[in-house]
Amino acid sequence: MKESGTDWAGLENRLQKALTENRYRHTLGVTYTACALAMRHGEDLDAARLAGLLHDCAKCIPNREKIDLCRKNKLDVTEFELEHPVLLHAKLGAYLAKKKYGVKNESVLSAILWHTTGRPAMSRLEQIIYIADYIEPNRDKAPHLEEIRRIAFEDLDSCMYSILQDTVEYLETNRDSDSMDMMTVRAYEYYRELIEDRETL
Ligand code: FE
Ligand code: FE
Repeated sequence: MKESGTDWAGLENRLQKALTENRYRHTLGVTYTACALAMRHGEDLDAARLAGLLHDCAKCIPNREKIDLCRKNKLDVTEFELEHPVLLHAKLGAYLAKKKYGVKNESVLSAILWHTTGRPAMSRLEQIIYIADYIEPNRDKAPHLEEIRRIAFEDLDSCMYSILQDTVEYLETNRDSDSMDMMTVRAYEYYRELIEDRETL
């Protein structure tokens, strides 16, 4: 399904109101980075643009309210998410994208849903949003950013592997390892195997 009927200016205005100034700037950074990646990798431009704009639409809702909204709308909240409610912004974001912002395209919704943890065998659009979130121009703290930005425009799978490797390492050293979302570990293992298999061919 095409997003060509989208009122981009109207959507941007709504998001600007729903987000803090910094979060909105990040959102625009993710959006144009996702668009550039979609151009490079032959993915639907409007779907990438829509997913980029909406990926953090639930991020600025207070954590308590995130939990309440999830429960009220019957979205599963895991024990792990209760302890780390910031993770809920992806799940709740996908829900709000559909209900509040009227997105019907399931591939856009799933790109929003998986943008924080990643998952094994991601679709190209899911990868583009995950990667754009990590490399957009306002980001400056992650290691190897220069190299990861270059790989993003060459090979999405090996870019996923690089980001997930750094992310798992970061989570292991900077927080107790029980704070690591199992989906991120599974995603990391999936992409490690994919890339290692490719290298031994
Ligand atoms: Fe996010
Ligand atoms: Fe983000």
